[in-house]
Amino acid sequence: MIESGLERVIPAFRSVCGEDGVSLSEAVREQHGRDESVHRCCPPDVVVWPRSVEEVSALAKICHHHCLPIIPFGTGTGLEGGVGAVEGGVCFSLRNMDRVLDVHQEDFDVTVEPGVTRKALNSYLRDTGLWFPVDPGADASLCGMAATSASGTNAVRYGTMRENVLNLEVVLADGTIIHTAGRGRRTRKTSAGYNLTNLFVGSEGTLGLITKTTLRLYGVPEAMVSAVCTFPSVQAAVDSTVQVLQAGVPIARIEFLDDVMIDACNRFNSLSYPVAPTLFLEFHGSEKSLEEQVTVTEEITRDNSGSDFNWARDAETRGRLWKARHDAWYAALALRPGCKAYSTDVCVPLSHLPQIIVETKEDLVLNRLTGPIAGHVGDGNFHCIMVMDPNDQDEVTRVQEFTERLARRALALDGTCTGEHGVGLGKRALLREEMGPMAIEVMQGLKATLDPKNLMNPGKVL
Ligand SMILES: Cc1cc2nc3c(=O)[nH]c(=O)nc-3n(C[C@H](O)[C@H](O)[C@H](O)COP(=O)(O)OP(=O)(O)OC[C@H]3O[C@@H](n4cnc5c(N)ncnc54)[C@H](O)[C@@H]3O)c2cc1C
Repeated sequence: MIESGLERVIPAFRSVCGEDGVSLSEAVREQHGRDESVHRCCPPDVVVWPRSVEEVSALAKICHHHCLPIIPFGTGTGLEGGVGAVEGGVCFSLRNMDRVLDVHQEDFDVTVEPGVTRKALNSYLRDTGLWFPVDPGADASLCGMAATSASGTNAVRYGTMRENVLNLEVVLADGTIIHTAGRGRRTRKTSAGYNLTNLFVGSEGTLGLITKTTLRLYGVPEAMVSAVCTFPSVQAAVDSTVQVLQAGVPIARIEFLDDVMIDACNRFNSLSYPVAPTLFLEFHGSEKSLEEQVTVTEEITRDNSGSDFNWARDAETRGRLWKARHDAWYAALALRPGCKAYSTDVCVPLSHLPQIIVETKEDLVLNRLTGPIAGHVGDGNFHCIMVMDPNDQDEVTRVQEFTERLARRALALDGTCTGEHGVGLGKRALLREEMGPMAIEVMQGLKATLDPKNLMNPGKVL
């Protein structure tokens, strides 16, 4: 932003959200110019903290009038550089809008403001018997999760953000406020017109600022059982997954860790799981249905030479078991202290999963790269957590080439370059390959209609 422009707009911003709601401090701007990814920090020119949708709208109108880029900021846990202000501009930190607005227990839905995180929502719901299951590991904001179409370990049973967002309140670049399913609507089904809700889910802040989301809730299951099981090969672990799903077992989580990842988890959490392809599983339901799910799964995994079954029934043991999986990112980083990590995120149809994982592991060895694999295997989605020395240019180049090869391998197998992290800064060229020129043109047309001045999070996605 040019200096004179900045001088003109700051008093206007302050008149909307107060002295405390605007910051030009270098430290604050730097903090808002990066997420958890390896993308370099791109600080905005100014950070604002609106307290209501009216303030978001008023601030957006000022930006629109002065042609200033608008970058929405949730909790900054994104992994694709989505919050970097590549063209400068105004970061809208939405953390002060943190109210849980309407819990409809009988209808299993809730509406939240953008500062509410998934953990905050679940502790708010503690006494209601309800919970929100989409779980990206990090304690992300729910509107940020809608913006990136996040998912995580529970998606195989409960779906991703796409299946769980019922309505969104969005402020467009010119300050207009819309409700993507109509104001106050919160039905499970709708055939009413175009699906604007799912246009904004996954739009990564490039179409508007999400200022409310209405979400589906679920009953807390009567009982839960978790398990860890070891396999002689990747193929055997994935075959078990496919057969469990084909058998109609409503499994809640089924996560794959390769030998390198389980070794890293063992070291990081002082555990002693066998160093081999491993599945972490979880079942939700009534005591009776759990018995049946567990029996069928045990039979299938045994038929695929699964061994070393560890079952966890009480909450504490289950918590310990899943902590190992949730710490995978930090366990990977601890393999090479001082290094940085980048997580790939491809997703393929389930039947292609063994082939792509086996080829990817060969590629890692051939190119002398550290990339433990952890996967939401029930969805065909897996991560190579690439641990690298950012000061070693040769290694950085090898990682970049590897991640592109991996994404193209997924595209060749009818898959996608990103199952849940989004496109952000680094996957724009891959998105073009994935969608083809005509679909990209339609996306550009939609963007131009909603944001003709290209102010919303410029430089991302398209
Ligand atoms: C250790 C670790 C593990 C992770 N595991 C997973 C995983 O398993 N699955 C998964 O899906 N993700 C995972 N993530 C990534 C991350 O948690 C998700 O992408 C999350 O959805 C980002 O939410 P956020 O609030 O932090 O968004 P931010 O990082 O603040 O923003 C992400 C993008 O969304 C936009 N945005 C944010 N808020 C809004 C809003 N209110 N309106 C419009 N646009 C907005 C931003 O401009 C940016 O483009 C992981 C991250 C970490 C650090």
